[in-house]
Amino acid sequence: MARYGQDARPLAGGQSLIPLMKLRLANPAVIVDLNGIPGLSYVRQQEDRLVIGALTCHSDVEDSEIVRNRHQMIGDAVRNIGDAQVRNLGTVGGSLVHCDPSGDWGPVLLALGGEVRCLGPAGERIIRGTDFFTDTYETARDPTEIVTEVRLRSPQPGAGGAYLKLERRSGDFAVVGVAVCLVLDANDVCREAAIGLGGVAPTYVKATSAESVLRGMPLSDAAIAEAARCLDAEIDPYSDIRAPAEYKRAMAKVFFQKAVELARRRATVGDS
Ligand SMILES: Cc1cc2nc3c(=O)[nH]c(=O)nc-3n(C[C@H](O)[C@H](O)[C@H](O)COP(=O)(O)OP(=O)(O)OC[C@H]3O[C@@H](n4cnc5c(N)ncnc54)[C@H](O)[C@@H]3O)c2cc1C
Repeated sequence: MARYGQDARPLAGGQSLIPLMKLRLANPAVIVDLNGIPGLSYVRQQEDRLVIGALTCHSDVEDSEIVRNRHQMIGDAVRNIGDAQVRNLGTVGGSLVHCDPSGDWGPVLLALGGEVRCLGPAGERIIRGTDFFTDTYETARDPTEIVTEVRLRSPQPGAGGAYLKLERRSGDFAVVGVAVCLVLDANDVCREAAIGLGGVAPTYVKATSAESVLRGMPLSDAAIAEAARCLDAEIDPYSDIRAPAEYKRAMAKVFFQKAVELARRRATVGDS
């Protein structure tokens, strides 16, 4: 990859790269198959982080005991990616690098304070999720780097998380995707709120204004509705084959409110 730079494309599960090549939207001179690299497929708890190797396929994340027991939001997201064949081959690293604005991993990474670990000829660097996604199908990864790992914040006591996706039919990419992580205290006051959105802008959005509205407030219907209104200024949806922009704008708010409700229920029963 150092030798070929932009002309080289790494291949992981091939679930996005191969379709792009079939459509002649990508035509790399060199393909570097990452599948022979050992030790890049794992799901582990590491102190207060869940770390996932870049070559871990979606279904291995879905089947991971740690995810099933402790990370409901991640479970919500991976269960609904494509179909079983896509989930058996497609990888976490590939999804993040592909950076389809309607993908499911992006919102989750943003809501869980995620970081992406990259390795290249210049060494290793860790890029925060908020800096990683730069535009439609564009990331901060250098063409000579591979992604090796994704690091996500693990839930603290009182945390609840949820990812909800509106799709036209089962297995489709999101019309809108909303990831919400809340930390509530015993009086239902929202100590922390983190919100990641997909499908509503050229790339994934961290809804910082809506987060500020919820943070420090009792989680009342009025506060949730006010946070939903804030989304309007944070998103920039466009019309495409899935839906007109106005519909996405409306559905982002509806799915946001549903995701907050689900995250709140899970926080209350200690199920993040
Ligand atoms: C029918 C179908 C339905 C789908 N539905 C959904 C869906 O509902 N939600 C969703 O989120 N996704 C969906 N996907 C996409 C799927 O999740 C892919 O797995 C994912 O987008 C790419 O992962 P991959 O491992 O297949 O990557 P590849 O196709 O191998 O690569 C994708 C891109 O990432 C680069 N790359 C891959 N791995 C690395 C790495 N470790 N380091 C650096 N660069 C890397 C490649 O060079 C390429 O540019 C769908 C795909 C298909 C075919």
